Amino acid sequence: MIQAMSFEQTFIIIKPDGMQKNLTGVVLQRFTQAGLRPVACKMMRLTEPLLREHYAHLADKPFFPFILSYMQQSPVMMFVLEGEQAIAKVRELLGPTDSKLAPKGTIRGDFGVDKSTNVAHASDSVDSAHQEIARFFKPEEIFG
Ligand code: ADP
Repeated sequence: MIQAMSFEQTFIIIKPDGMQKNLTGVVLQRFTQAGLRPVACKMMRLTEPLLREHYAHLADKPFFPFILSYMQQSPVMMFVLEGEQAIAKVRELLGPTDSKLAPKGTIRGDFGVDKSTNVAHASDSVDSAHQEIARFFKPEEIFG
């Protein structure tokens, strides 16, 4: 059976631990080596209102206050990457949320600390990619 390929955009944040360890280039290279291409980038310090929106699905979790402060510890770098099956490819290269369970060779397995401090965020579905890209980038900032 021939499977239809899907050309997608996905959204990445290099989180404060990734920034402090200066991993932006290493992480981006893993994605570009997999055939993905950056079409937007931005550096900013995330604000609490933006984080409350971005992590709304975790608002009732006990670790939510930690996420709010951790994600504001330093500026972050954000990217939109484009390519065939970009969303699944990036999630696979990133590894599971808990860096301790992430296999070596994945970004979180190689550079993450635990389930909260895990180097990077990446969209997990087509819907969340659309929402997240629109949350952090204006249409004219995307060159896809
Ligand atoms: P992912 O980032 O892999 O998509 P989630 O959307 O479930 O995972 O969680 C968002 C972020 O919240 C995680 O990347 C991590 O920083 C933090 N987080 C998730 N689960 C936990 C947990 N059990 N304890 C501490 N932090 C967590």
